Amino acid sequence: MATTDNSFNGLTERCEECGMDTLHEVNIQIVTESTDGDNTQFSREPYRVRECQRCGNRDRQRMNNA
Ligand SMILES: [Zn+2]
Repeated sequence: MATTDNSFNGLTERCEECGMDTLHEVNIQIVTESTDGDNTQFSREPYRVRECQRCGNRDRQRMNNA
């Protein structure tokens, strides 16, 4: 049950695979993570997911690195 906003956000950003600035599709994804502990707790973390429109390389980055 992923609540993804499917609005297309085209952004020109640096792609490490391409080694140049390319168009990226950027989405914000809420990922439910389970924490390793005795109490089963889930935290919902927003990730910024981007996909290079040139080579298809994807990476995602947690938005709050607390
Ligand atoms: Zn690329």
